Amino acid sequence: MLIGIPKEVKTMENRVSMTPGAVESLVRRGHTVVVEKEAGIGSGLPDDEYLSAGAKMVTADEAWAAEMVIKVKEPIASEYKYLRKGLLLFTYLHLAADRALTDILLESGTTGIAYETVQLPDRSLPLLTPMSEVAGRMAAQEGALHLEKPKGGRGVLLGGVPGVAPANVMILGGGVVGTNAAKIAAGMGARVTIFDVSHSRLQYLDDIFNGRVTTMTSTEPNIRAAVMLADLVIGAVLIPGAKAPNLITRGMLSTMKEGAVIVDVAVDQGGCVETIKATTHTDPTYVVDGVIHYGVANMPGAVPRTSTFALVNQTLPYAMLLADKGLDALRANNSLKLGLNTIDGKLTFAAVGEAFGLET
Ligand code: NAD
Repeated sequence: MLIGIPKEVKTMENRVSMTPGAVESLVRRGHTVVVEKEAGIGSGLPDDEYLSAGAKMVTADEAWAAEMVIKVKEPIASEYKYLRKGLLLFTYLHLAADRALTDILLESGTTGIAYETVQLPDRSLPLLTPMSEVAGRMAAQEGALHLEKPKGGRGVLLGGVPGVAPANVMILGGGVVGTNAAKIAAGMGARVTIFDVSHSRLQYLDDIFNGRVTTMTSTEPNIRAAVMLADLVIGAVLIPGAKAPNLITRGMLSTMKEGAVIVDVAVDQGGCVETIKATTHTDPTYVVDGVIHYGVANMPGAVPRTSTFALVNQTLPYAMLLADKGLDALRANNSLKLGLNTIDGKLTFAAVGEAFGLET
C-alpha cells in the first residue's frame, strides 16, 4: 500500500505519526511510505533517518495523495481539501467535539478510523493510554515545578529533605493518569493519597504500591478533609462519555493552603475542579484564591519526542494490519473495527451520531 505521513500543522503540535523505525517496518513488509519533508523535526527525527529507513521525502500534497494517510491530530480546515472518497485516514479524530470535521468527512466520503475509539475487549482504549501515561507522569513533574516560589507556589520541595516533611499530594482518580502521577510523585518522595470511587481499583492500587501510597474512597467528606492539607492536587477522573464531576468546589479553595497547586489533567473533559479552565503551554497557570491552577489540555505536546515514540508503539501494529489487508483488517480485528467512524459518507460511530442527531 502507498502510505503518507504528513507533517502536523496544528499550532504547537510537534509529534509525528510514524518514527523512522516504524517506517522501516512498513517498508520491509513491501509497502511504500512517503513522508512530508521535516515531518519529524519537532520530535528530533531528521529527514535523513526517514530516508535511511526507506521512505521517500515529499511535499504535503504528495503525502496526502497516498492511499492511507496516518496522522496524529485531526485534520484542520487547511487540510480539508485533501479529504476524498477512497482515502483511508488513521488518526485521532475526536468527532463528537467537531461538527465541521464530521460533515466534511461524510461529504467527502473519507474512511476515517479514529485512534480514540479503537477499543480492546476489556473496554480499554489502547491508543489513548500512552498519552494518559505521559500526562500522568508530567502532572507530578509540573506540580513539583509550580510549587517552587519563583513559579508562584508555596516553596515546598515535593520530597522534603531529612528532618523536613515531604509535600502532601492528593490524586483524584486512580486510572491511567492517576497511577502514573502517583508513581512519579511517590518516586520523588511525596506523601501521596489516591482517591477513587471504584473499590476494585483501590484494591489494585493498594496491592501495586504496597504501602507507598494511601488509597481513599472518593467521597465529598474525604475530599473536603484532605484538600485542606494538600500541597498539590492532581485531577485525573474520567467518567467515559460524560463531563468530569466537580470534586473540588469553589468553596473548598478558600480552605486550601496559600500557594498550593492544582494540576487538573481532566480539564479536557471539563475538569474535576470547579475553577479550572483550559490553559496553554505558553501560559499554563493562573491563580484563584491563592491557589495555582494548571489546566493545559494537551500536556503530552510539551514532550513530543517521548509522546511520538509512545504513540507509535501502540499505533504501528494497527497501521501494519491496515496496510497489509486494507479494509479487510476491520473484519479481522474487532478492536480496530470499533475505530471506524466514517465510511462512504456514512457515520458508523454511535456516540458521534448521538452528539449531532445524525443517523448511524
Ligand atoms: P481512566 O479511565 O484510566 O481513569 C479514570 C479514573 O477516574 C477511574 O479509575 C475511575 O474509577 C475514576 N473516577 C471516576 N469518577 C470518580 C470520582 N468521582 N472520584 C474519583 N475517581 C473517579 O482515565 P485516564 O486515562 O486516567 O484519564 C483521566 C483524564 O485525563 C481524562 O479526562 C483524559 O481525557 C484526561 N487526559 C488529559 C490529558 C491532558 O493533556 N490534559 C492527557 C491525557 C488524558
